[in-house]
Amino acid sequence: MIISVASGKGGTGKTTVSTNLAYVLGAKGQLLDCDVEEPNAHLFIKPELAESRTVYATVPEVDVEKCNYCGKCAEICQFSAITLVGETVLTFPQLCHDCGGCKEVCPENAIFDGKRELGQIESGNKGVIEFHHGRLRIGEAMSPPLIKEVRTCTRDDKITIIDAPPGTSCPVITAMKDVDFVLMVTEPTPFGLHDLKLAVEAVKKLGIGRGLVINRADAGDDKVREYAKQEGLPILMEIPFDRKIAESYSRGQLMVEDSGEWQEAFLQLFERIKTN
Ligand code: SF4
Ligand code: SF4
Repeated sequence: MIISVASGKGGTGKTTVSTNLAYVLGAKGQLLDCDVEEPNAHLFIKPELAESRTVYATVPEVDVEKCNYCGKCAEICQFSAITLVGETVLTFPQLCHDCGGCKEVCPENAIFDGKRELGQIESGNKGVIEFHHGRLRIGEAMSPPLIKEVRTCTRDDKITIIDAPPGTSCPVITAMKDVDFVLMVTEPTPFGLHDLKLAVEAVKKLGIGRGLVINRADAGDDKVREYAKQEGLPILMEIPFDRKIAESYSRGQLMVEDSGEWQEAFLQLFERIKTN
């Protein structure tokens, strides 16, 4: 089973939920931190990261000896990642979406595969908990290919918890596509409600089962609950605005580490996910 933990905006408690859930699942689960621009689940899980590998994107390179400057590569590229200026073919690897179109249309076979570093995937364990995360290279804008690569760490014999990036754009869709369930995390504020609505619309389009966790549940109003009812979005857990929780978060500690009550609550959350 693959569960993606998502939120319409950052700072709602998405990582709190994904890390605590992964912790109570223990050896049955694995945690994939796909928030590759700002991965921080490791600060709470504290895994020993034993493996690291570099992930590259394929980008076009031009053999100037073969090129006849016909411009067909530039014509087909939808992203202006390759262009012809006089008798020079310029490539802009940062804009390339690796569709292969330019290589396909080149009449001289002058285009070959080069590579551009996207970032790193680091893997390890904390006790029985299996952990993987991606780290996007500083200055790199294209995160979906790295997220896809982190997702290849998914194991069929585990319950996979994905900590998705915040928002509703391409990186989030990459982290939610083909999962069994999306657990959305929000807070009961006007901003939380606004971004939750965007996230719900995105998940509805993907046709995936969904549920809601309300964090800092007693700090705002009831509008998020009313919206959830209207949408038929089940509220699977509420986490109160609690000084102890905030303090343990600031120390990088999980809620479930020292609390049997929260361990039970997160196990129940998993049971509710299975039945929704
Ligand atoms: S691979 Fe696709 S996106 Fe990249 S330069 Fe070629 S045509 Fe453009
Ligand atoms: S399509 Fe091939 S031959 Fe034509 S300009 Fe591009 S690289 Fe050169």
